[in-house]
Amino acid sequence: MRYIGRFAPSPSGPLHFGSLVTAIGSYLQAKSKNGKWLVRIEDIDPPREVKGASSLILKTLEALNLYWDDDILYQSACSERYYAALQYLLDKQLAYYCDCTRQRIHNLPNSLYDGFCRNRHLCQSASQQLAIRLKQSYPIYQFTDQIQGLQNVNIANAQEDFVIHRKDGLFAYNLVVVLDDHLQGITEIVRGADLLPVTAKQISLYQLFNLPVPTYCHLPLVLDNNGNKLSKQNHAQAIDLNNLTSATVQALQFLGQIIPENWQDANQQQLLEWAIEHWDLTKVPQQNSLLPTNIR
Ligand code: GLU
Repeated sequence: MRYIGRFAPSPSGPLHFGSLVTAIGSYLQAKSKNGKWLVRIEDIDPPREVKGASSLILKTLEALNLYWDDDILYQSACSERYYAALQYLLDKQLAYYCDCTRQRIHNLPNSLYDGFCRNRHLCQSASQQLAIRLKQSYPIYQFTDQIQGLQNVNIANAQEDFVIHRKDGLFAYNLVVVLDDHLQGITEIVRGADLLPVTAKQISLYQLFNLPVPTYCHLPLVLDNNGNKLSKQNHAQAIDLNNLTSATVQALQFLGQIIPENWQDANQQQLLEWAIEHWDLTKVPQQNSLLPTNIR
């Protein structure tokens, strides 16, 4: 089976060093396996979207010579397909409507949902928008990540009936990410370790739909000085388009890879070719770490 990997940014801001690490890590892992590397724009959350961010992200990827191998999938164009999956789950009684307030859930142990609406048979009405939750029938208690190793999942967390369609009418990330990764034929998911805690929920959806489960590689996160994940929400600095080779070298170092001695003489394409040839997933560290000083 041919390897197909992907990079799936949300257009909530420009590409920063943290997302560069994810883009490069997923690209090199795919290319080192002679695979395809796809890009998907996860624009299903309009309130979090920043105008112009998706085209800026794509321009930066192109400037980095990180070319994708097929058409870009925009999640905003996929609502019909998502609704069909939702309807299927509701029809099969594998999902249910829920009117619980945020406050009620917040007061539950660890804010984990207790299945209160599971058998209440609520229906959507014109007057009240309801969330839709998955009736969790395939809880995943354990899985192996290619970088982070064996992951044990807390029982209550594994069994939680999680939201697949939000009260505000938006599709939940955990549902659409699985539908799209399957549609795009993704065989391995390489992404930031911030998504490790929701991976078991996503695997349970693969089981429910009887789909082959991809393998997972969760890359260490880039942290800011306060120990927070570098993110668009924290207003991380955009990648400097005038210094792409040095940013690439920093990303390679962050990922534990060796870098060519004479990298200053190499252009971006040569650097990437070298990096593909020398890519070694076993060298990628598990631990999150601080932004390299010269990027700060
Ligand atoms: N869109 C998510 C983000 O930008 C990534 C989702 C994923 O890789 O599964 O954080």
